[in-house]
Amino acid sequence: MAATETPSNVHADRVPLKVLVDKRKHKVLFAEAGKDFVDILLSFLTLPLGTIARLAAKESNIQPVKVGSLSSLYESVSHLEEEHLWTGMCKEMLLRPRSSMESYCQCLKINIDDTGSDPAMYFLCKELECCRKKSGSLLSIFSNQRCSCGELMNRAVTPENITLENGFVKETATFIICDDLSVLPNVLVTGVNLLQKLGIKDMDVIEEQTVDISKREVVDLLKLSLLSKNSLTDFIFKKKPCVGDLNPTNQSWLERGEESSDGSRRMVVRALVRKSNKTVLFAEAEEDFADLLFSFLTLPLGGVLHMLEGNSSLGCMDQLHKSISELSPDRYLRSQRLKEELVNPKCAPQFTISDQILPFSEVSLPVYYCNTFFDCHKYNLTLTTSTRPICYSYDKNVPLEILDPKSPIGDSRSGKGFAKGPSMFMVTDDLVVTPLSSISAVSYLNRRLQVPLSDLEERIIHVGVKEGLAILKASLTSTSALTILLEQFTRSI
Ligand SMILES: [Zn+2]
Repeated sequence: MAATETPSNVHADRVPLKVLVDKRKHKVLFAEAGKDFVDILLSFLTLPLGTIARLAAKESNIQPVKVGSLSSLYESVSHLEEEHLWTGMCKEMLLRPRSSMESYCQCLKINIDDTGSDPAMYFLCKELECCRKKSGSLLSIFSNQRCSCGELMNRAVTPENITLENGFVKETATFIICDDLSVLPNVLVTGVNLLQKLGIKDMDVIEEQTVDISKREVVDLLKLSLLSKNSLTDFIFKKKPCVGDLNPTNQSWLERGEESSDGSRRMVVRALVRKSNKTVLFAEAEEDFADLLFSFLTLPLGGVLHMLEGNSSLGCMDQLHKSISELSPDRYLRSQRLKEELVNPKCAPQFTISDQILPFSEVSLPVYYCNTFFDCHKYNLTLTTSTRPICYSYDKNVPLEILDPKSPIGDSRSGKGFAKGPSMFMVTDDLVVTPLSSISAVSYLNRRLQVPLSDLEERIIHVGVKEGLAILKASLTSTSALTILLEQFTRSI
């Protein structure tokens, strides 16, 4: 396919994909692929939503695309002054969220997630004595964080015995991939059944093609998989996905109009609603609601799809996710444990907020110990998970505490979330989050929306788990996330 790579990518790997097309209708019937391509496709499920919004906004052969309200949410975080977040690192964490499964993706022939480090690297305090304390020595997942002693944590260490995993599917397995990105075992009967289902009677219309896919084209495919229900056809025949009618908002999985009655915490969101058409112009809320929205960017796609039980309406993603959950780990995936991780990935370590109302947890890092030993006239440090000193010249092992990059005082405990409080935030219908200012709110009404004051009313929405899920779902496909929320759960004052 296209040979318009940048010089640095000229020698980059390409991955072959064999497709069977209906040459008259310009439609892909199905594709056949091995481990390299299927692993790349599955890696989409490991991407945090923030990474997806960022990659979708990039140039590739397809123009930048917007993903529901996620793109505007992401964009608003990129414009947010750091003073509204707990630490300088918070913004970086939201704009470049890490994946909990990066060790599986780093060996892929094409890895579009560029946020991890290879090999995994951690950071210790610049001050040697601080790393050798009897207790309370810190380990950071980001460089140049401020240690509790005040020094920078810029001493890079790589854990001993860390292994990179070789992707997701078995090396010898081959697969059939449908136009909607369902991944099926490659057996003859599957192909024949598919052709029958597609109503192919005349074999003359069928043609075989092989394409070599570049990194840029993998980004194309990601964009199409978010927008189109026929991703492979749009990809191979370079059709423009028509965004408008491809994202129906399926609300059936939530009972409409019923407020959640669980005993959990609720956030209060005051929505300013246009009475005449029941649309939310914007809402004001405290930092807990801003944090909920920010946290969307850190959630891995596979976990979100799992939570929405096949009802995300996001392009082909539900089909991809469902087909993987039906694949046998004995013959096709590398292990049962890996399959479970892939269909419901957790957040990366340190990326969850402490008050997260959505059922999302993070992967915890192993307990690491710092070993120091004197060699070649200097101290060397190693990071190990073993409690046993490796040789007699080592110091006693010191268990390290993981620095919370969201902690304003540089420790392992005090971090809460991303949005600094107490403060008020303004959130538009497409989830643009900004610090609240009454004056800018009024001029927003005046200039951007031109709504007469008499047409405005305030509605209060109490956001608990159910409402949180509804906003998350709406954010994937709609630019009216708050209006959809209001339709589903409202209580007027
Ligand atoms: Zn220190």
